[in-house]
Amino acid sequence: MKRYNETLYDAWQQSFSMDEVLFEANTGQQHLVIFKNALWGRVMALDGIIQTTEADEFIYHESLTHIPLFAHGNAKRVLIIGGGDGGMLREVCKHPGVEEIVMVEIDEAVVEMARTHLPNHSAGAFDDPRFTLVINDGARFVAETDQQFDVIISDSTDPIGPGEVLFTQDFYAQCKRCLTPGGVLVTQNGVPFLQPDELVNTFKRQSQHFADHTFYTAAVPTYVGGVMAFAWATDNLQLRQVDRATLQQRFADAAITTRYYTPDVHLGAFALPPYLADQLK
Ligand code: SAM
Repeated sequence: MKRYNETLYDAWQQSFSMDEVLFEANTGQQHLVIFKNALWGRVMALDGIIQTTEADEFIYHESLTHIPLFAHGNAKRVLIIGGGDGGMLREVCKHPGVEEIVMVEIDEAVVEMARTHLPNHSAGAFDDPRFTLVINDGARFVAETDQQFDVIISDSTDPIGPGEVLFTQDFYAQCKRCLTPGGVLVTQNGVPFLQPDELVNTFKRQSQHFADHTFYTAAVPTYVGGVMAFAWATDNLQLRQVDRATLQQRFADAAITTRYYTPDVHLGAFALPPYLADQLK
């Protein structure tokens, strides 16, 4: 049986049996492979790093969409940076109040292959009339656009290769420029138990631009090494003060079916244990 061994860490690897290879190629931007695995369903990897699996993607996508969107409460325009598999888009589309979604993905092949081989990720969201796909580097897009967004979600690869620019001070500064007053930026920020530098670097870089910058977490099984951190960056100090009853009302009004998100999970996600909080002092 052919196996896919993740190469994110030299000292430790997760290994998947490749029960069926659905697509594999160098796209010109990155090495892309999509395969079937008995435990995780359809799996996508880029440049040797697991990006998403059918079995656990809901945890990641619900965490990076419903927490900022229910905290904001009135988001109409959403920007997704990366997100080529379509899972983030699927969850954003569930919010009836959202009127426009722009997704800036650097590698068109990821979107094309995800449409074909990961249909459950996008679940038709690529055809949502509110959706616009832009094939571009996300860092260039936020530096050049005159559009503004209420929520910006950076759903990028790790800061290796094309994803590296999405973890820079300049990217965060440009995202701030593209946020409407009271808007919020959230980003995929790695597994801090194994990638502590990503946490501290983002904290320092975002501290230059945002009044409220912290992290929240969720355990995504195939992002190995413990909880994944999501950066939270906004000038709107009220967003993290939204109370349980308000979140419950917004969640009920949206009538969204979730497998991970609840208002209590939302509130608990921001509770950082000392091994993480102490790095941010
Ligand atoms: N859930 C994954 C994770 O946490 O690592 C991310 C999944 S999604 C597939 C990551 C996407 O970011 C990929 O489609 C990749 O092509 C895209 N990407 C990487 N660098 C980018 C950049 N500079 N601008 C826009 N998209 C980028």
